[in-house]
Amino acid sequence: MKKRILILGSGFGGLYTALELDRTIARDADIEVTLVSRENYILFTPMLHEVAASDIDLTHIVNPIRKMLKRVNFFHAGVCSIDLQAKTVRVTHSPGDHPHDLPWDHLVLALGCTTNFFGLPGLEETAFTMKSLGDAIRVRNHLIESLEAADFECAAGQRDELLCVVVAGGGFSGVETIAGINDFLRESTRWYNHLTRDQIRVVLVHPGDVILPELGERLGAYAQKKLAERGVEIRVKTRVKAVFEDSIELSDGARIQTRTLIWTAGTAPHPLVGALPCQTDRGRVSVDEYLQAIGAPGVWALGDCANVPDPATGKPYPPTAQHAIRQGKVLARNIAASIRGGAMRPFRFRTLGLLAAIGRRSGVANILGFQFSGFIAWFLWRGIYLSKLPRVEKKARVALDWLLDLFFSKDLVQFQTHHSQTVKSAEQRMVARD
Ligand SMILES: Cc1cc2nc3c(=O)[nH]c(=O)nc-3n(C[C@H](O)[C@H](O)[C@H](O)COP(=O)(O)OP(=O)(O)OC[C@H]3O[C@@H](n4cnc5c(N)ncnc54)[C@H](O)[C@@H]3O)c2cc1C
Repeated sequence: MKKRILILGSGFGGLYTALELDRTIARDADIEVTLVSRENYILFTPMLHEVAASDIDLTHIVNPIRKMLKRVNFFHAGVCSIDLQAKTVRVTHSPGDHPHDLPWDHLVLALGCTTNFFGLPGLEETAFTMKSLGDAIRVRNHLIESLEAADFECAAGQRDELLCVVVAGGGFSGVETIAGINDFLRESTRWYNHLTRDQIRVVLVHPGDVILPELGERLGAYAQKKLAERGVEIRVKTRVKAVFEDSIELSDGARIQTRTLIWTAGTAPHPLVGALPCQTDRGRVSVDEYLQAIGAPGVWALGDCANVPDPATGKPYPPTAQHAIRQGKVLARNIAASIRGGAMRPFRFRTLGLLAAIGRRSGVANILGFQFSGFIAWFLWRGIYLSKLPRVEKKARVALDWLLDLFFSKDLVQFQTHHSQTVKSAEQRMVARD
């Protein structure tokens, strides 16, 4: 009887577990490894803001799973429920979202986390998020749509709200997103006859004293100064209090006219993971140092959906890609050890560095305790993340995008996916009405 290893999620945690198993025990006849994910690719999140800000092509930061795995089976499906008693996972996939129950002997939970909207009325429906490739494409399309709409005379009265972008959350994702968008919008106005750079308003709302708190006060203050010099309005010690279709209200009482709120201000546990009958901590699965779920034999967890103890600090490891990748390798070896016999390895890792790109060829970085800012930090950001991007093909494509960016301006093409027949029918209805 084959031992079945089932991995849920193809992010950094799930994929790097699968890659390590692919290299090792997945080649054995008595082992069957299956990776299930609703995306048939791995998204390189550190470069997501570059897609939203039209710096790189839409598909250059994603890699197809099927080109990365040889022996591990890939199942493109959504996970609906997990039964730890029956040791099955229910998934659905096309056509028609039909269900399958997948049995397992070892289950790896790598489903990541979701966005936290803190129950603010209207926020989830109104705000843009920055977690998936679809999110970045939506933001990019919306920004271009706003520029197109604002350029017309009839939009003169609505230009303030069309040309104002608010990003909530001054962590890595929020800061990198606002920096890229600020450059993109201001540079793009030169292609629109009725718009000028000064009409663009870009606001960063952050509840703490200084942005990028993980990098420390000095680098956070530097990033704040640089962004402010380029026209980004930074509102620290402030939260979004209420959201409306054409404006938002802040905790300091200010009201900002905008149709673009990008929400990067919090994460919530994955709903499937938080509901499992095993030990959890604030919705994340508690695991031991070998990444085994506590109170659920045969279940393993890693990445953003797991609470992995750091013996050096007594706190959980931070939810980052660099941790998830390394946990994946350790977890795969520990599964192999538990099947084949042998000693399991505890997960131990010290954060190597933290880097953020803050636009216009500048950045901030803390690498092994050394702080960098300006061009050198930006150069390190590019060099390090390019080396981490999986597969030579995608590295080459991104490098080429960056090279061409030196000579050409950012692309303004909207990525539309409407069926041509739908557009034609709408046009015919308009003609008939006239
Ligand atoms: C915008 C952004 C920028 C970031 N920048 C950095 C950075 O610069 N450096 C860094 O170290 N970290 C960064 N991170 C954090 C990093 O991306 C995460 O810590 C990392 O992705 C966690 O990996 P994971 O495998 O746990 O989860 P994820 O990578 O989120 O993967 C979860 C997987 O589960 C799948 N999934 C979820 N639900 C279901 C379901 N119901 N059915 C099927 N599949 C499902 C998803 O499709 C996905 O494939 C960034 C994150 C974001 C959002």
